[in-house]
Amino acid sequence: HWDVLIVGAGHAGAQVASLLRQQNFKGSVAMFGDEPEHPYERPPLSKDYLSGEKTFDRLALRPLSFWAEQGIEVVPGRRVVAVDAKAHRVRTASGEEFGYGSLIWATGGAPRKLSCPGHDLQGVHSVRTRADVDRMMAGLDRTKRVVVVGGGYIGLEAASVLTKLGKSVTVLEAQDRVLARVAGEALSRFYEAEHRARGVDVRLSVAVERLEGEDGRVTGVRLVDGSLLPADMVIVGIGIVPAVEPLVAAGLPPANGVEVDEYCRTALPDVFAVGDCAAHRNPYAASAAPIRLESVQNANDQAKVVAKFLTGQPEAYDAVPWFWSDQFDLRLQTVGLSTGYDETVVRGDPATRSFSIVYLKDGAVIALDCVNIVRDYVQGKALVKARMKVEPPLLADGATPLKSLAA
Ligand code: FAD
Repeated sequence: HWDVLIVGAGHAGAQVASLLRQQNFKGSVAMFGDEPEHPYERPPLSKDYLSGEKTFDRLALRPLSFWAEQGIEVVPGRRVVAVDAKAHRVRTASGEEFGYGSLIWATGGAPRKLSCPGHDLQGVHSVRTRADVDRMMAGLDRTKRVVVVGGGYIGLEAASVLTKLGKSVTVLEAQDRVLARVAGEALSRFYEAEHRARGVDVRLSVAVERLEGEDGRVTGVRLVDGSLLPADMVIVGIGIVPAVEPLVAAGLPPANGVEVDEYCRTALPDVFAVGDCAAHRNPYAASAAPIRLESVQNANDQAKVVAKFLTGQPEAYDAVPWFWSDQFDLRLQTVGLSTGYDETVVRGDPATRSFSIVYLKDGAVIALDCVNIVRDYVQGKALVKARMKVEPPLLADGATPLKSLAA
């Protein structure tokens, strides 16, 4: 029995544990994770870990000694399969049962798999865990041609690293532009052009029929139009399925993730959810419908909400969303949530490869995508936070600092 039991030893879980101690929580804390590692940073998996520039020991979220020093019991390799919310108990895959005072569900999600024939051939990879990426890296020597299914951030980051490593890369996107779910069209077109300029074959509005293989190993991707793209490796980056089945079995309605209130409480007593799996009403979203955010920012900020709540200092979730993505020599930083915008303003000249796109709704700034321009990202945050109404020509003028508009 622990006072606080955290399920999932990723960004959100690790942060809840650390912040509880920082807030002087004196009770017992344990964290179960089903991966074999102690908590590590996930973003480098599709960036400098995949490229070989960072070794795994540099990805640790905390030094190993930290957990013992803080009196936090971290148990890797332990998967929770059932929750009895009334009895305040969980059961693990090996059949052990443990009690808790508060349960923090921080399980992220499992990469969505292709459902077409051939999806489980060797050489087909997701990019979610260290094990995924180690498997991928082990196959790189024999790989010349890579097909990436999915033109989201993870697919595009992997495409950029593999191109730099000398592979011939094709990106397949079902929509008519990359990053369609998360960014406006101008940003999509910019990234498509950057990838193409580096030799990535970006194909839009295409659908995969099946993966072809020989002796159990992938050899190509057959598209619905009949064409065949030869491939020694296929990377699938088509999103995640939140890992919430045990909570649904425990009585929560099935949904895209588990719904939480502004204190990250689920509808089950003393059960909280944080991070990628938590569907919440975000004060910066255009609609009141629950959304999930897949970002380190959200994992950390929701962890803070729970740690504060459990130490008697409740503070409702009110963090401005932010995110970054590294592709080639481009650092994208986004702030706010652009979904629901009715106007965009390009600030600066994309041809200089240092510019921003400002998203407005009803005249107010709701988000910015900043490419290689930290200044706009930092200063733009204040505009988003204040939901500032600014005339588009002022925003478009790159020579006018955003901070002068925030006053
Ligand atoms: P996770 O970090 O996924 O941790 C959840 C943990 O719970 C996992 O270890 C999982 O195996 C474990 N688990 C699941 N079910 C169970 C169970 N039943 N029992 C026990 N353990 C369980 N975000 C950014 O902001 N910027 C980036 O540049 C960026 N790049 C990314 C690149 C990649 C390749 C990936 C995969 C993600 C990236 N993200 C990025 C997103 C970011 O990593 C996630 O938002 C963050 O990790 C979410 O934290 P989490 O704790 O909710 O989930």
